[in-house]
Amino acid sequence: MVTRPSEASPHEFNPWLHVTSLIETAGHLLGLNEGLIKRIVTPERILEVAVPVRMDSGEIEMFHGWRIQHSTARGPGKGGIRFHPSVNVDEIAALSADMSIKCAVVNIPYGGAKGGIRVDPSALSRAELERLTRRYAFSIAPMIGPDRDIPAPDINTDTQVMSWIMDTVSMLAGHNIPGVVTGKPLAIGGTLGHAGATSLGVTICTSAILQRMGRLASEQRVVIQGYGKVGAPLVKLLSDRGMKVVGVADIRGAIHVPGGIDPTIMANHYKEAGTIVGYPDSEAVAADLLFTLPSDIAIPAALGGVIDQDIAKTMAASIVVEAANGPTTGVGADVLASRGIAVVPDVLANAGGVVASYFEWAQDLQGYLWEPELFHDRLEKTMREAFNYIWTRHLQLDVTLRETAIAVGVERIAEATELRGLFP
Ligand code: NAD
Repeated sequence: MVTRPSEASPHEFNPWLHVTSLIETAGHLLGLNEGLIKRIVTPERILEVAVPVRMDSGEIEMFHGWRIQHSTARGPGKGGIRFHPSVNVDEIAALSADMSIKCAVVNIPYGGAKGGIRVDPSALSRAELERLTRRYAFSIAPMIGPDRDIPAPDINTDTQVMSWIMDTVSMLAGHNIPGVVTGKPLAIGGTLGHAGATSLGVTICTSAILQRMGRLASEQRVVIQGYGKVGAPLVKLLSDRGMKVVGVADIRGAIHVPGGIDPTIMANHYKEAGTIVGYPDSEAVAADLLFTLPSDIAIPAALGGVIDQDIAKTMAASIVVEAANGPTTGVGADVLASRGIAVVPDVLANAGGVVASYFEWAQDLQGYLWEPELFHDRLEKTMREAFNYIWTRHLQLDVTLRETAIAVGVERIAEATELRGLFP
């Protein structure tokens, strides 16, 4: 029995138990011994912190936060920090393990980590948000650092929150430590190219699978769920590579444009209307019918768990590229596999963001800012190599791309763990 971060809610879906079972299954597929599997599954460090904040009213409010390092076998921990009312230790632990796998899949020298505070940030003033962030950063400071664990933005955290964390850690040390977080503004050690890197990675994976399947980009109709930080740049990036985006959904609804969406007209429409709904000459469709529209490629880029059994049964596309984290349920994945629909899994497809973070961190350590061309060339190379390796191994292992990706991640973590041995 593997140690669980918490014993709460044993009868409900538990993300930690889910990721545990994925790693264990991969370990068995690879023939790893039980002791090694236990070491790989179990998080190395779990820090729970109390975060007292003086509110603008003068009252003190208490919040709770976590930072979890799942694995540092391959390098310092890497993973975002989220501020959300539903944050709990099992969720953060599961996400930290996902990061270990994701970094190993794209073969960057990082382990996996994740952090969060249980808070509704929309209820805080900017000054309260800054005090919350700085107190949390102070509390996790002993655990983070450029050579230990490097946080990044996640749900409800952004470049400003990263700036406050970087500043707090730097003030404690008495000198600047830009490499302690990634996703920073350019002015304080961020990198050119970071914005849009996840979408670029999704696009590279989409082009790569088309190439492997011998399909022409110009013959592909794409539907995208989500028009946010990841979904919006995809419309242009995919169109630039010759594909036709025929459907998009956001929280307000979905549209169908059989002739293809013009990325510039869409961007202008969205700027004015605040939604994709009402795009000129589009047909409005029910949001839950997006994936049934005649299409070849489906890209979920919004929420987790949307491709369930029912959506998988009616999925029109023959390729799914998972831009969102965890968009397909376990049963949904089984249905897609049984229908012969190829799925590029999230740990590979949306890893462009963490690769960009790696490049930002490398530049901070070097004290040398790369040109955008160098950034884009290296991102393309890293994502292509990762995709090609997973594709080749999935043919050898004869399992899905998702099972292969998790197995490759586990295999690389296992190799590092074994090489390093067991201290003491
Ligand atoms: P975002 O908040 O910028 O955008 C989310 C989009 O989804 C919005 O357009 C929103 O309207 C839409 N949406 C919300 N509910 C919807 C619904 N019920 N139906 C249809 N559309 C809906 O978020 P994001 O940063 O673009 O992230 C999207 C997904 O990608 C998330 O799963 C996130 O975890 C994952 N991801 C993001 C990054 C990144 O770099 N931002 C990196 C890796 C993974």
